[in-house]
Amino acid sequence: MQTTSQECDLVIVGGGIVGATLAAALKDSGLSVIVIELLSFDRAAARERAYALSPLSGQIFQSIGVWQNILPHIGKYRQIHLSDADAPRIVKFQTVDLDKEFLGYVAEHKTVLQSLQKYLARCTNVKWLCPAKICGLTYRASDAIVEVEVAGQKQQLRTKLVVGADGVRSQVRHLAGIETRGWKYWQSCITFTIKHQASRNDIAFERFWPDGPMAVLPLPGNRCHIVWTAPHAKAEAIQKLDEPEFLTQLEYYTGGLLGKLELTSEPLLFPVELFQSRHYVRSRLALIGDAAHRCHPLGGQGLNLGIRDAAALAQVLLEADRLREDIGNQSVLKRYERWRKRENFTILGFTDFLDRIFSNNWLPALIFRRFGLWLLRTFSPLRIFVLELMTGLKGRIPQTKILQKI
Ligand SMILES: Cc1cc2nc3c(=O)[nH]c(=O)nc-3n(C[C@H](O)[C@H](O)[C@H](O)COP(=O)(O)OP(=O)(O)OC[C@H]3O[C@@H](n4cnc5c(N)ncnc54)[C@H](O)[C@@H]3O)c2cc1C
Repeated sequence: MQTTSQECDLVIVGGGIVGATLAAALKDSGLSVIVIELLSFDRAAARERAYALSPLSGQIFQSIGVWQNILPHIGKYRQIHLSDADAPRIVKFQTVDLDKEFLGYVAEHKTVLQSLQKYLARCTNVKWLCPAKICGLTYRASDAIVEVEVAGQKQQLRTKLVVGADGVRSQVRHLAGIETRGWKYWQSCITFTIKHQASRNDIAFERFWPDGPMAVLPLPGNRCHIVWTAPHAKAEAIQKLDEPEFLTQLEYYTGGLLGKLELTSEPLLFPVELFQSRHYVRSRLALIGDAAHRCHPLGGQGLNLGIRDAAALAQVLLEADRLREDIGNQSVLKRYERWRKRENFTILGFTDFLDRIFSNNWLPALIFRRFGLWLLRTFSPLRIFVLELMTGLKGRIPQTKILQKI
């Protein structure tokens, strides 16, 4: 087999939303980028999932220039209703708490990834290799060599930096021997989409049941994406229920808030886990998104953290390039790690704390969480603090101007 070779400034392994966001943030930067994606464009975009996106993720997409293509096709919510199971006293987060038009958005995977793919097709400094498979990765003092197979052809890429954006089972992380620390939960998530008859479709619900949280996220067309968490065996049993019984259970767990329900997608099952990579960077290597960390889906944080990783890394690389520094140098990459690792750790810890304190029937935990909810209802500064923490506004915000143009 003949091997061809080419050079570039950085190789992004993984053309999911996080990898594509990084590539898009580096548009017109003078840095040449190659994105390697295992699947074809269509298959990569075909994933059946919707994500709660924070206003900060929207702001990052806006600065990159893709938001106007995403916004018309996604759900928008003005309130978040948080409750302890079906207890009547709920905490209401409202737009006045953040002084924004919306508290967040709900976007289907396909909508976001296809918008990024279309946008990147017009970026002359970004090239895609897909479907493509990594056959080898070698890190050297002054560069890295990526061996990749595309359509039966071997290619050798010489680059200053490899970015692992290849998701939770990252091959890049594995080949670099970077360990993760974390655990698997006793819970799995069932995700699916429903059509409903409620008159309003601008409220997101997070209902904490003793089995695990249930998120109800509004999508356009009177639809909702639901993330229903339960212990593994129960989640498996729920997934296997016939449709009428499934919907009866769902109506009970949603408290009848949405009227008559209709399933519009197959319920899918995901085991829940949490981890943080011991290192986000090495010389000539950086990890972003799920390749670097994974958290409980509670509160819809994972992708938002990954989008912030991508924007932060883009900012660090653009600043380093402007100062004529070597973008693959570990001291440059450490700036990104110092920025993002601690912030991600805080969110991972907070979602874990919420899951543990709510997912049980233990009386002291029940008293503690009801007191916490009372505090949230009563003291607006505390409510605003929690909202800002969960939407990334408490951390260091990527300078979106830098992403617009250097
Ligand atoms: C049930 C559930 C609900 C969730 N809900 C939310 C939510 O509401 N909000 C939110 O923010 N997050 C949510 N998340 C988390 C979110 O799904 C992830 O954090 C996000 O998808 C990570 O994006 P990524 O681009 O890092 O990884 P991925 O989406 O996994 O993308 C990785 C890409 O890399 C490609 N790839 C993999 N291996 C290779 C390889 N060796 N070579 C080349 N390419 C490769 C893959 O094909 C893929 O395209 C949820 C997660 C779960 C499980």
